[in-house]
Amino acid sequence: MSQDIKKIGIIGGGAAGLFAACLIKKYSCDRLCEVTLLEKNEIPGKKLILTGHGRCNITNRKPASELKAGYHEADNFIYPAIKEFGPEDTISFIENDIGLKTKEEDNNRIFPVCDSAARVRDELVSYITDHTKIICNAKVLDIRKDSSFEVSTAEEKYSFDYVILSSGGSSFPQTGSTGDSYRLAGKMSHTVITPRAALAPVKADEDSLGFIKNLSGVSVTSKVSLFCNGKKTVSTEGEILFAEFGLTGPAVMEISREIPRDISDCNPYFELDLVPSLNDEQFDQEFRKLIGDHPDTKITTILARFVPASVAGEIASKAGVSDLYAQGFTKDNRRKIVNEMKHLKVGIGREPSIDKAYVTRGGVSLKEVDRKTMQSRLVPGLYILGEALDIDGISGGYNLQACMSEAYLAVKDILKV
Ligand SMILES: Cc1cc2nc3c(=O)[nH]c(=O)nc-3n(C[C@H](O)[C@H](O)[C@H](O)COP(=O)(O)OP(=O)(O)OC[C@H]3O[C@@H](n4cnc5c(N)ncnc54)[C@H](O)[C@@H]3O)c2cc1C
Repeated sequence: MSQDIKKIGIIGGGAAGLFAACLIKKYSCDRLCEVTLLEKNEIPGKKLILTGHGRCNITNRKPASELKAGYHEADNFIYPAIKEFGPEDTISFIENDIGLKTKEEDNNRIFPVCDSAARVRDELVSYITDHTKIICNAKVLDIRKDSSFEVSTAEEKYSFDYVILSSGGSSFPQTGSTGDSYRLAGKMSHTVITPRAALAPVKADEDSLGFIKNLSGVSVTSKVSLFCNGKKTVSTEGEILFAEFGLTGPAVMEISREIPRDISDCNPYFELDLVPSLNDEQFDQEFRKLIGDHPDTKITTILARFVPASVAGEIASKAGVSDLYAQGFTKDNRRKIVNEMKHLKVGIGREPSIDKAYVTRGGVSLKEVDRKTMQSRLVPGLYILGEALDIDGISGGYNLQACMSEAYLAVKDILKV
């Protein structure tokens, strides 16, 4: 290792790599560092500029004890990171170091006031330019470790004392996340848990596509439950969006990671509860009361008290009661409506595509990484961050916060601050 100057190589200039470079600059003080960021695209942060629909949902203002539940099986692994550098630290860094004011929206989500993810990326890059050598069009092909790390691109070989592996996952590959982290970590003997889609839209099967297409563009608040082999495996509540191909929106995307790989084995389907605030009996009672109070009203109009009119129309049509009025509406018809409103079945056409997933489930096994430092347990001096790891968070700023928190632990350990 060089005696005076720490030579740090960052592989991948996405969210995690840029955050790491920023935090090295912030915390290096009088420590001598030579930081090189190698990015295979022509510009860094191609995925970052897409975040939050181009507005960048940078974090989620919750205490670490609550936030950790958003990281599924990795909740305990991520806890020290989000505890030590949590949402308030991210907000402070973005506001005071990067110079972008932030604002809070629903569900504790934090965005920059400028509503521009491109601006966030530009300001992060501009913050590090005097401290980090950013080399674009530099795809890392190989890493070897002897007394130091030798990192190779097609054109160059670099020597580093420390390597931060932040070359992303496999989701949204057009942004540069094409699974290179896994290949590179694999070369360093790391185990990679099979990458799969998380936070992905879901294609409906042919049977369900008819009514779903008719509702394309409509969003509703719903409870979404996933059934496999006829058994409920998981459920969540939130906004869903009907689309030409099937379902998307935060609640569906959140649950998409649980859809099994080989769907032909278990016939998975979603059950949508379009009136989650009432149980079946309560909904039936309210519906019956409305029927009694408005005998001359069409059933679709009554249903539109609970869901958007277009959804009411499709539900009535599925129940075969579109043309009926409240007067004379039979118990059997009411039962059909309760079934469609509270147990609307949407068959799943195929396993969610990783190309369309916002994040990757799977990645470098957490058993091989020290959760207090993000350092590899197998290769001293190698730090692994972001989507490269087997961590995926729910939507709402959780994934960028994970990158930031992990970057902090790695930088703290490298700089010994
Ligand atoms: C459409 C969309 C919207 C999202 N919105 C949000 C949001 O609002 N909030 C949130 O918290 N999360 C959001 N996410 C998730 C978030 O963007 C990711 O979790 C995060 O970007 C992961 O950061 P990363 O640095 O690990 O990977 P990436 O951001 O994918 O960066 C990896 C980088 O490494 C480079 N690279 C890859 N291989 C090599 C190689 N061999 N050599 C050199 N460089 C390489 C890539 O080109 C890329 O620039 C969104 C994701 C998507 C797709």
